[in-house]
Amino acid sequence: MALDFELPKLISELEKIKPKKVLVQLPEGIKQKAFLVQQTIESIPDLNIEVIFSGETAWGGCAIATVEAESVGADLIIHFGHAKFIDSKFPILYIEIIDDFDIKQLLEESLQYFKDYKKIGLSYSIQHKHEVENIIEFYKENGVEVILSDKKGFAAYPGHVIGCEFGGLKTISDDVDAFLVIGNNFHSMGAAIAVEKPVYLLDVYNNTITPMGNVRDKILKQRIMSIDKFKQAKKVAIISEVKPGQKFGSSKFLIDKMKNAGKDVITVTMSEFSPDKLMNFYDIDAFVELACPRIAIDDFAKYPKPILTFKECLVAVGEKSYEDFLSEGVI
Ligand code: SF4
Repeated sequence: MALDFELPKLISELEKIKPKKVLVQLPEGIKQKAFLVQQTIESIPDLNIEVIFSGETAWGGCAIATVEAESVGADLIIHFGHAKFIDSKFPILYIEIIDDFDIKQLLEESLQYFKDYKKIGLSYSIQHKHEVENIIEFYKENGVEVILSDKKGFAAYPGHVIGCEFGGLKTISDDVDAFLVIGNNFHSMGAAIAVEKPVYLLDVYNNTITPMGNVRDKILKQRIMSIDKFKQAKKVAIISEVKPGQKFGSSKFLIDKMKNAGKDVITVTMSEFSPDKLMNFYDIDAFVELACPRIAIDDFAKYPKPILTFKECLVAVGEKSYEDFLSEGVI
C-alpha cells in the first residue's frame, strides 16, 4: 500500500487560498502523518501558515471540525481522507488521499464469483477512485459489464460509497445481478444491508474477496429486536452530536411522537457518544441516536440498552411500518 497525500495539490491550493492559520483533520489511521503534513505546509515559501491539528476523531467527511476551527481562530480547515460531505459556510479544503494498490491479482480471482452474472454494480471508497476506469476495463475484457452506482445523497461521485449513503446502489439495484464494493468491510456490510442483491467485497487491505452472504437478514433481525425492546421503554434519551454532518433526523419531531406514545424524553448533546458516556444516564431505558447511523447498527452489542437510529425510531413510534422500513433498507 502506498498512501499519496496529494501534497502538490495541497500546496497549490494553499498558495491560492493563502490562509493564515489552518486546522488540519486527519482520519484515525493516518494521524501519525501529522509531521509530514506540517512540514509540507510550513515549506511553502512566504506564506508562514500556522498549523494546528485536530485531535478529535474524524471517521468520515461528516466530522467537520468547524467548532474547533472557530475556537482556535483558524481561517481554513484542511480535511484529509474523505470527499466533501455537506456544504459548509466555513472554508474547507478536502484532500481525498489516494491509496495505491496493485489489485490485478484480486481482480483475476474475483472472476470466479461473477461467472453467472452479466452485469455488476460497482462502488468504491474514496481512496480507490483512481482505479475505477481500470477496473471497469478489466471486467469488460473478461465479459462482465460493470456500471457505477449512482451519485446520490452524500456521495460525492458516481460509484462513491460511504457508510451512511447507499441510495446510489439502491437506484441501480434492479439493473444489476450483484454488487462489488472496493474498500473495506464497513462499506460492504452497509451495502449488503441496503440492497437485496449479492454483495462482494474486494478488500485490498486484507487481499481477499468476500461474499457478504446473509449478513442482511442477521442484521435486520437484530434491528427489529432493538425496535421491539425500545417500544417497551418508559424513559428514553435522544442523543445528538455536535458534528455538522451528523444530523440524521429531527429531535423535535421525535419528542412529540414519543410523548404521545407515553414516554418520558430527555435530549442530550455530545461531541461524540460512547457506551461509557451513556452509562452515566443509568435510569434511561433506551436511546435514539441522531449521529452516525452506523453506531447503532454496527456497535449495538457495546450498548447494554437498546439504541435506535432515527429511521428505526419512526417504526418504534408508529410513524413507519416494519414493511416500509425493511423494503426501504435500514440505512
Ligand atoms: S455519518 Fe457515519 S457513515 Fe456517514 S460519513 Fe460519517 S462516520 Fe461515515
